Amino acid sequence: MNLMIFTDLDGTLLDFESYEPGPAAAAVALCRQAGVPVIPATSKTTIEVIRLRESLGLDSPFIVENGALLYLPEKHEYTDVIKELALGKGLTVTRVSGFLKIIFGVERPILQERLAAITGELGVTVRPLSRMSEAEITAETGLPAASARAVNEREYSEPFLLGHEDDDLTTAERYALLDRFREGAARSGLNCLLGGRFFHLLGDHSKGTTARFVIDGFTTASGDGWDSMALGDAPNDFDLLREVDHPVLVRRPDGSHAPGLEIPRLIATDGIGPAGWHEAVTARLEMAAVVDTSRI
Ligand SMILES: [Mg+2]
Repeated sequence: MNLMIFTDLDGTLLDFESYEPGPAAAAVALCRQAGVPVIPATSKTTIEVIRLRESLGLDSPFIVENGALLYLPEKHEYTDVIKELALGKGLTVTRVSGFLKIIFGVERPILQERLAAITGELGVTVRPLSRMSEAEITAETGLPAASARAVNEREYSEPFLLGHEDDDLTTAERYALLDRFREGAARSGLNCLLGGRFFHLLGDHSKGTTARFVIDGFTTASGDGWDSMALGDAPNDFDLLREVDHPVLVRRPDGSHAPGLEIPRLIATDGIGPAGWHEAVTARLEMAAVVDTSRI
């Protein structure tokens, strides 16, 4: 059985504050040696992930903007079969700088319009990412200015923060608001998710629905079964974790695990973020006997 790993980036493979992989880098290298694809599934943008996968040494497909877009390297052995599957589903497929790009999302200007309508209906004030300056994005995310620009280079999702009452809300209050946003989004055939920092308005998809397309595509293209693993830290990872054989929730910097996900076989890591990633992935590689982890 082949193993494939989907992973959230911020707060999971990358440290929540420093955005560095730290101890996870060694486990990523082991996956590469073992031929286990590590497939980022993130809220981040195309340009952000293209930069990151180079620094992480990844050559696998990747999912951005919470499942709105799937990229497959044109040279990847399964790309042709997956392209046919996408066209068969009526999805839009284009080619961009060495990648096949498959679009699951709704265009951002439409989302911006709907966000204004939904928040108006709910009587809630929000700050959409598209209206934030680079300085504001830097202040909210801790990213340097050059990276802050890349955060806003998105096509199929609109992240937003709540008005200035954000800091005062408990987790339960944020989850309750998420439910109200989600109901408003559903009336327009859209979805709303909560990440580590931002809410996200997007089309009727998630990291999980796009990961399911990838799992099915790999299965069809290879003619073989795949064992799937996924790691995440926030509610916008829950759909992804529900889709796989081995779901992993990594611990957050405050020592907690995101509440509200009750599924069989869920592993909650002891390690925070990348330390939890290293812990869960090396254990899985050992169990799958694809690598000798005694060396690390
Ligand atoms: Mg995260």
